[in-house]
Amino acid sequence: MRSKKRIIITVLVCIGIGLLAYFAWLFPFYVFETNDFDTSIEKLLSFDYLKTLVPLFIMIGLSAAGIIMIVLLRRMLAKSDKKFSRFADVRTSRARGKAPKQKPAAFMVIRWIVMIVSAILLIWGGLIFGMGISSLSIPVLSCPWNTEEMTNSSCYYLSHLNELFELPIGNILLFFISTLGFIFVLGRVICGFLCPVGLIQDIMDKLRKKTNTEGIKMNEKMYGAITPVKWFILLIFIGLCFAGGNFCNFCPAVAVSPILAGMSTSLYVSGFLMVLVLMGSFFKRRAFCMVCPLGTIMGFFHKISLFRVKKDCQSCTECGACYEACPMGIKMIYTERDKADVTHSNCIMCGECVRCCPEDNALSMTFAGKKIYTSSRKKIMSGYEEVRNYYDDKKG
Ligand code: SF4
Ligand code: SF4
Ligand code: SF4
Repeated sequence: MRSKKRIIITVLVCIGIGLLAYFAWLFPFYVFETNDFDTSIEKLLSFDYLKTLVPLFIMIGLSAAGIIMIVLLRRMLAKSDKKFSRFADVRTSRARGKAPKQKPAAFMVIRWIVMIVSAILLIWGGLIFGMGISSLSIPVLSCPWNTEEMTNSSCYYLSHLNELFELPIGNILLFFISTLGFIFVLGRVICGFLCPVGLIQDIMDKLRKKTNTEGIKMNEKMYGAITPVKWFILLIFIGLCFAGGNFCNFCPAVAVSPILAGMSTSLYVSGFLMVLVLMGSFFKRRAFCMVCPLGTIMGFFHKISLFRVKKDCQSCTECGACYEACPMGIKMIYTERDKADVTHSNCIMCGECVRCCPEDNALSMTFAGKKIYTSSRKKIMSGYEEVRNYYDDKKG
């Protein structure tokens, strides 16, 4: 009875946090003057910058409170109902304690470096280089909300198609050539390497692992249930594009990058969504990517992208480690027994499947047909060897 009461209180507090996050933009300390384009290196070094960061602190605080409440609720449920343990990320819960780090693959190191550099460019690029990065019309790398002149970004026009067609024909052509060129060469590598929301989600996942918190282990049914949500959000996105709506008000990145760039702005719904993204990606890696409309649009072009995931079906032993590791729950990477190209429209090119595959050359990432990252039994075994030695030493 007592635990039931606690569960009800926790649920109510979580709902309260959600409502608080949703209406936080109404608070006087949360809403700043809109269109305050007073951003400069001097401002970033001044006390004013800390004031600009207040909404960010609120979002982080609300997310942390939500995460703690969910962890406590899960602990209570797991105690009272054994069935709840099925949601636990077995690998994480077994890996409690300090295990030695495995040497990260060069691919992963490069991926993190590129993600961090592209986030820095997105946020402070205009200030650092004194130019509008968006004038290059690079999708995702350019948020138009960070400085006044940044209004030429592909990302912005992808969600404001009605405004795009009012531009001079030269700009429209530039938009299509640069956006399609970018997507053709990179495909959803943009998601795995360049997107700041992707980086934030990966950081939250790292945070979960560092704090030994159990994640949500999704099964096929749960992934299936997400698919209609993804299409529904894409429909809203497209509807808003043509109806003159402003999808940027819903974009979680808008709740972070202008603030970090020193821009005082109102956040509206995007701040609330960022709280959900932070909480969701803490428990499920890349939770938002599963429903992101930009990711879905880029997925339409996965067939022509030069980056591919390839499989040697002869070398595959059907262990399923790749499926277990995939943050997007792509099952065909494990079940495919025929085709060599296993690039899926949901694939964000994170390389996790290759990293976890224990068979030499069974999986690889390729660019223009050349292998850039290949699975290796030796690498996997050396990792296990290190872990085993560590625990043997501890026992001894
Ligand atoms: S799916 Fe969306 S949020 Fe995720 S990395 Fe791609 S563009 Fe960013
Ligand atoms: S299939 Fe592999 S590269 Fe693609 S999202 Fe899944 S783990 Fe990442
Ligand atoms: S991890 Fe490698 S060996 Fe195991 S199912 Fe996937 S591709 Fe096959």
